[in-house]
Amino acid sequence: MAKDYYEVLGVPKNADEAAIKKAYRKLAMKYHPDRNPDNKEAEAKFKEIGEAYEVLSDADKRAAYDRLGHEAFKHGGMGGGGANGGFGGFTDPMDIFAQMFGGMGGFGGASRRRKTDPRRPGSDLRYDLDITLDEAARGCDKSLEIERLVPCDTCKATGSKDGASGYKTCSDCHGTGVVTHQSGFFVQQTTCPTCRGLGQTISNPCSKCRGEGRVHKDVKITLHIPPGVDNGTRLRSSGNGDAGLRGGETGDLYVYIEVKPHELFTRDGKDLSYTMPVPFALAAQGGVLSVPTPDGAAKLKLPAGTSGGTIFRVRGKGMPVLKGGTRGDLMVEIQVETPTNLNPAQKKQLETFTSSLGDANQPEAAAFLRRASTYMN
Ligand SMILES: [Zn+2]
Ligand SMILES: [Zn+2]
Repeated sequence: MAKDYYEVLGVPKNADEAAIKKAYRKLAMKYHPDRNPDNKEAEAKFKEIGEAYEVLSDADKRAAYDRLGHEAFKHGGMGGGGANGGFGGFTDPMDIFAQMFGGMGGFGGASRRRKTDPRRPGSDLRYDLDITLDEAARGCDKSLEIERLVPCDTCKATGSKDGASGYKTCSDCHGTGVVTHQSGFFVQQTTCPTCRGLGQTISNPCSKCRGEGRVHKDVKITLHIPPGVDNGTRLRSSGNGDAGLRGGETGDLYVYIEVKPHELFTRDGKDLSYTMPVPFALAAQGGVLSVPTPDGAAKLKLPAGTSGGTIFRVRGKGMPVLKGGTRGDLMVEIQVETPTNLNPAQKKQLETFTSSLGDANQPEAAAFLRRASTYMN
């Protein structure tokens, strides 16, 4: 399907560098879009010429092409990376042209179509927001105060006292936004300092925004936080970033959520947990515990003889799942509390109680003693 690069440039297979360059110059001048406005055929041809020249003017690429043909530049060819595999895709034919002819390329050339749009999109902004676990569980509305760039109303975001008609093509870069320096064989392109790469200058800049078309402003934004957000959740507030340069597209505001630690609940994704101390008599006898959940108290049935470390799951009392509509669980770990600060009467009662216990009451201790007995003499 793709044409032979040598044929495209009209040179023999053994053409030297100079011949290739000469052929490219001639054809590129002929088919340049500036000379062939609205001519799709010429545009395609111009692209084809640029591609052929890019490959044949580079010793490595040319060698690969001679060996493998167009396959060398398809995905996987040369084992290289890049969007198109191989050499990573072709350079914009306008850039190739500009490199050859310099920024002013012949007839105002490479210039015309690149960067003649003096607008630039605004930046996205970042805001770090701390919220409580309760706010994360229920969702909330937060008022954020941010400083952002907003369109300048004096000049209607054009940056020019005369509106968009006050723009003129930058005379230093001819609208390309880049200036080319040539020294010997090396061609170097840098951003045009006169127009800062925008390709256009303003004769009468707006005095309020100094030609930017945007100004700094402190603004208040109300942001809805949906239930279920977690640390690192990123919420996008569309169009609340910086206004673009001279009416360019406005960026977005990204709000990064940090959920503050809670004094009772520990969060693990969608689940919540805590350790709950339980009197040892209650753990022994069993009963119904009243346990705290984000929605208020819930009942938890504690079986008789519950050991410390036992974890009970209270279903559906964890955190809501963002975009899920479901909820995680609450894990209640039981800690059997050993009574302290006993008075003499209590000690006496405990002794009486202890003397009544047998192996059946303390099966774990009995089992341990059996395993350990030979090591305890
Ligand atoms: Zn310029
Ligand atoms: Zn202005």
